[in-house]
Amino acid sequence: MLIASFTVAQVIWFFALGASAGSLINVLVYRLPLGLSVVTPPSRCPSCETRLTWRENIPIFGWLLLGGRCRFCRSKISAEYPVVEFVVAVLFAGFYILWYLTPPDARFAWFSIGQIAPPWAGPGTGIVSPLAQTWPIFLQLLILLGCLVAMTLVDAKTFTIPLILAWIPAAAALVIQPVTAFVIERKLGHLWRSAPNWDWVIPTPGPHGWYWVGFAIGGAIGLIVSLILLASGLITRSFADYEEWEKQATASAPPEGEQPPDQQELWLRYPHARREMVKELAFLAPPALGAIIGGWGADRAIAATVGWTFDPVSGGFVTPYHVPLWLAAFAGVLLGYLVGGGVAWLIRIFGSLAFGKEAMGLGDVHLMAAVGACLGWIDAVLAFFLAAFVGVGWALLGAVFGGLRRQLPYGPHLAVASVLIVLFRPLVELGLSKLLRMPVHLP
Ligand SMILES: [Zn+2]
Repeated sequence: MLIASFTVAQVIWFFALGASAGSLINVLVYRLPLGLSVVTPPSRCPSCETRLTWRENIPIFGWLLLGGRCRFCRSKISAEYPVVEFVVAVLFAGFYILWYLTPPDARFAWFSIGQIAPPWAGPGTGIVSPLAQTWPIFLQLLILLGCLVAMTLVDAKTFTIPLILAWIPAAAALVIQPVTAFVIERKLGHLWRSAPNWDWVIPTPGPHGWYWVGFAIGGAIGLIVSLILLASGLITRSFADYEEWEKQATASAPPEGEQPPDQQELWLRYPHARREMVKELAFLAPPALGAIIGGWGADRAIAATVGWTFDPVSGGFVTPYHVPLWLAAFAGVLLGYLVGGGVAWLIRIFGSLAFGKEAMGLGDVHLMAAVGACLGWIDAVLAFFLAAFVGVGWALLGAVFGGLRRQLPYGPHLAVASVLIVLFRPLVELGLSKLLRMPVHLP
């Protein structure tokens, strides 16, 4: 009984945390595209600028308390605010229930929802709770979910993704994962719970993966080199002359009986998309080169010091010097960032070269890089290709219900696909096992 009420209190706590995060997301979604400060001024009515009292500021309930209208000027307050707060609250509480409270054999209709929790999570036994060991990783997931919701909303409204919303989860992963791995390795040496071939919560190079450690770090250094080259003007930013072109394109009045093109149409009419992709390929050359040199260099360094020996058990070359868990986690995050962003960027470049207009925005590239950093490279690649099917799903829903009046940008599809992959990865693995006729357990 005591344990049951304690559990309920935890779920309510995650619900409240999600509602508060939703409240912050509302502020970000409203203020970021306008370039306003996120911290000041405090929340106020958009029409008459009357400040909200602390009670009206309570997520979800504040809006209900006001009956959806400003206390002072009676103008309507969008229902989007409480809906976003509720959705994020359900996401946070729902993932807590699925990851840390649902027993592995639990089923819901035909689907075993007990399999949704990753192998290192799941409900506790006795006093040992996986949450005690892995809560920073869960926090990282919540940060990613919150930012995906915010990116979805801003992208759907403005067709752009504020890059800060992608950098926050990527930076969180880059700090949280190596630090957590370091603490776990010091205290216990490994995760309390994991599956065969898992050494961490996302795919990593593993204890013998020096090549991939060098590859990931070399690629990241190459990325920094590209950013420095860009800042110093040695390579140029793509679409730099877009605004000048837009001015010329809109200078003459549209022909009789035609609407002037909107921002989105103009963007697709820009004639130099193919040429601009060459600049983006130049930007990607240093990371690609850095990764190759890094991987080769790490191999050579091991060969020159402790040496590689053939291991008949694994069928690969091993070295007595193991990659420490924190470094494996760090490399796993970098690899996820580079692969997630890289796949989206290459599709952008080849799509734009093929069609002569910009295919997929750079914001989408940043979004996929963030997903890769938090969930690892395999989930990022799976989510990226699932997004195309999510797009088809939206189109079908739109055709059936007629609710979606206009084309959605790609960011929301990527975000929804990423959440679906987190939820249904066991199902994906089952599908892959059947397809390949062998057991598949993605690391
Ligand atoms: Zn008002």
